[in-house]
Amino acid sequence: MSSKLLTKFPGIIQTQEPLAMHTWFQLGGNAEYFAEPQSWETFLDLLKYASLENIPVRILGSGSNVLVRNEGVSGLVISVGEALPSLLEVNENCVRVSGNVPLSRLVIAAVRAGLGGIEDLIGIPGTVGGALHGNIGTDSTDIGQFLKCAKIASLDGTVSVVDKADMIFGYHQSSLADSIVLEAEFEFREENPLELTQRMQKRWIIRKASQPMGHQGSGRIFRNSTESGMSASELVEHVGMLGTRVGGASVCERHANYIVTEPDCTPNDVLRLIRLIQEQVHEHAGIRLELELEIW
Ligand SMILES: Cc1cc2nc3c(=O)[nH]c(=O)nc-3n(C[C@H](O)[C@H](O)[C@H](O)COP(=O)(O)OP(=O)(O)OC[C@H]3O[C@@H](n4cnc5c(N)ncnc54)[C@H](O)[C@@H]3O)c2cc1C
Repeated sequence: MSSKLLTKFPGIIQTQEPLAMHTWFQLGGNAEYFAEPQSWETFLDLLKYASLENIPVRILGSGSNVLVRNEGVSGLVISVGEALPSLLEVNENCVRVSGNVPLSRLVIAAVRAGLGGIEDLIGIPGTVGGALHGNIGTDSTDIGQFLKCAKIASLDGTVSVVDKADMIFGYHQSSLADSIVLEAEFEFREENPLELTQRMQKRWIIRKASQPMGHQGSGRIFRNSTESGMSASELVEHVGMLGTRVGGASVCERHANYIVTEPDCTPNDVLRLIRLIQEQVHEHAGIRLELELEIW
């Protein structure tokens, strides 16, 4: 299959691409095949071809919710990132945006246009597509509630448009999870741009102080548990694991639901630390913490 993929898409497919530099953890092995298409047409052609040839495909946004194992990933990883053309259009109280646009760009554009609702999401890393995939959010809001409709592709490259009525968004999950978001249209409420800007700046300052430092490899690890009434970070702190270290991975001192890494860290260090936290929280608080982070 390899030679066929390389011949069919000359200059587009890389082999044995290190995925570490494409993820926020900055860890892990290679993708057997990796493509960073520069047009949406090529993107869809890649999906169609991979589906015909039964090549497993994974979609990578900005890699902020993925830990790649040492072994790397077999099959084709396609980046839906900055190499693809981006679209961001504000029309009255609606914003149309392509799936590869950074979430923070969408937030800032909405706030500038006096459109309120998602200003609390400022500073959350990732693309709009990745955000909708996991219906990301904060204590006060999530992205899914503002979606009006989306243009999506299935893994065989078939494109369709879905309306809000046909989508389901829950806590950190969405019915779009099996599709690729090509474009999304959001509907927001009109508000005073100055007040919105102040709110966004305040959130940004709070977030910066409670998130890992920018230079560190990092990832947000657990879903909040509904059983205990305590957030995942409160549970990790409660069992005394703030700052706990395994190899080059440690629980972030600023926020216990993040793991941060040293340059000598391996994916196995992170996985061992995750298991240790899960065991301790289960033993001392009786709660099974589930992963929000995807392990590839
Ligand atoms: C420092 C830090 C802070 C964070 N804070 C928060 C927070 O406050 N709240 C919160 O909810 N999350 C938070 N996260 C998690 C993370 O930001 C989100 O999960 C992010 O939205 C993932 O987007 P991405 O583009 O990086 O996707 P990736 O990590 O690249 O991929 C994640 C999943 O999305 C899929 N995907 C990517 N692009 C698309 C697309 N176009 N269409 C469909 N699926 C796609 C991938 O296939 C994969 O399954 C944080 C993460 C970090 C590292």
